[in-house]
Amino acid sequence: MMAESMRSTYGLFIGGKEVMSGASRTVFEPATGEPLAQVYFGGRDEIDKAVEAANAALKGPWGRMAPGRRARALFKLAQLLAERQDELAVIEARNAGKALWSAKAEIAQAVEDFEYYAGAVTKLCGETIPQGGGMLAYTLREPIGVCAQIVPWNYPLMMAAWKLAPALAAGCAVVLKPASATPITALLLGEICRDAGIPDGVVNVVPAPGGEIGDYLVEHPGIRKVTFTGETETGRRVMERASRLLKRVTLELGGKSPNIVFQDADLDAAVAGSVYAIYYNAGQSCEARSRLIIHESVYDEFLGRFEEKAKTLRVGDPLDPKTQIGALISREHEARVDGYVRQGVQDGAKLLLGGGRPEGVQEKGAFYLPTLLGDVRAESRVAQEEIFGPVVTATRFSTEAEAVAIANGVDYGLAGTIWTRDVGQAHRVARAVESGLIGVNTPLTGAPGLPFGGYKQSGFGREMAMETLHLYTEQKTVLVHTAEKPVNPFGV
Ligand code: NAD
Repeated sequence: MMAESMRSTYGLFIGGKEVMSGASRTVFEPATGEPLAQVYFGGRDEIDKAVEAANAALKGPWGRMAPGRRARALFKLAQLLAERQDELAVIEARNAGKALWSAKAEIAQAVEDFEYYAGAVTKLCGETIPQGGGMLAYTLREPIGVCAQIVPWNYPLMMAAWKLAPALAAGCAVVLKPASATPITALLLGEICRDAGIPDGVVNVVPAPGGEIGDYLVEHPGIRKVTFTGETETGRRVMERASRLLKRVTLELGGKSPNIVFQDADLDAAVAGSVYAIYYNAGQSCEARSRLIIHESVYDEFLGRFEEKAKTLRVGDPLDPKTQIGALISREHEARVDGYVRQGVQDGAKLLLGGGRPEGVQEKGAFYLPTLLGDVRAESRVAQEEIFGPVVTATRFSTEAEAVAIANGVDYGLAGTIWTRDVGQAHRVARAVESGLIGVNTPLTGAPGLPFGGYKQSGFGREMAMETLHLYTEQKTVLVHTAEKPVNPFGV
């Protein structure tokens, strides 16, 4: 199956067609370091063509289509995606290096996302607003226009779905730019949109390098809104550039999320959940709970048990069904993760687990062992900066106020988890932690319907929720004079 589903070359997807234009580049397989496919990357010309195709498509029926019809196209898209789940999961696992089981789970979530927004299309309403003086006032929700959607490499298809589904539901057209390392499933998603009957040009997918071409896309006068997921630094640049034409912007950025273990926590559940919350997707998750903040009375016991469990995780070949943690995205990234671990130890942290490459993996592949740094000072670099790898820091606290202060003592505010049996404490701390999402006694985070997004430098705007639809619309107020006597304040 693998051989048939993988092509040797992928073109751009513009105006409903595969287009071999731009510059062909080799895309690699992170677990082996070997070439995976040739992929065309767009330059300015291709961005122009994609933006033009999207604007032309908006003049067609898509934005004004009966909502029920648009809903059916999205349900069809979800169904086609589900039918191709196994094939797409293998491609995603190979291209992103992630374990096959997690690629499958992400595609399943993408399917649910399209279903959620397919159901939402027919619920996107304006309102009537009471007015006196014979006036009728109501609002319309109109598609915002053509959106640039820029996604990272850590969840290539799922991030594309998070963005595409609400944009399509709202009646927008899209130029989707996947990350350079992982363009393949986004290109296939473009084809699946066409197969679902979404008109040509509504969805365009253009792999392109960030930097100059990313800037060009963000600044393009044919783009009305930019939704971006990626690093905080890149997000800042995107926002600056988008601000020149006052484009609408949604930013989903980095994180350094806390995982607070109180003294009364169910330690079995907390250990299992905390291991998952950091090491899922090899720690390359924006919402990875990368800072353990543990009450001093259970610190040693918790870490002892955490180490025991984390040691059992199977790291290796993404396509082996027994693998729990696959590869990192590249050897360069592996070196960066390792650099952080060395830095942490230099700053006084104790390396309790991991701290290097696992045995038995491909030499050119990018891998890193689940790593635990103990006795980490809350203000040290490893506890402040996003490492984006399988590395968790552990810090002690003695009072609830101290735990909250440590949790909030970073620039980010994306997610967090609290482990406690004390109901009052759970709700109190959930309110006190500055982040877009808090789990109580669960490591799970995003699901369709739950607003997902950041406080502080983790960005703004929410994805996956009903309100996300509003971020893809302009609100128009219509004021209608219905009284017999005309409005004539000047008495002319
Ligand atoms: P990145 O910022 O390097 O790249 C993200 C995307 O932006 C890529 O498609 C890249 O090509 C593009 N890009 C780069 N420069 C650009 C520019 N000047 N103009 C326009 N586009 C440009 O991020 P990454 O390394 O791919 O992804 C990892 C980061 O993403 C982490 O910080 C992670 O926390 C974050 N992330 C956040 C969320 C969330 O929902 N908050 C989800 C997933 C990942």
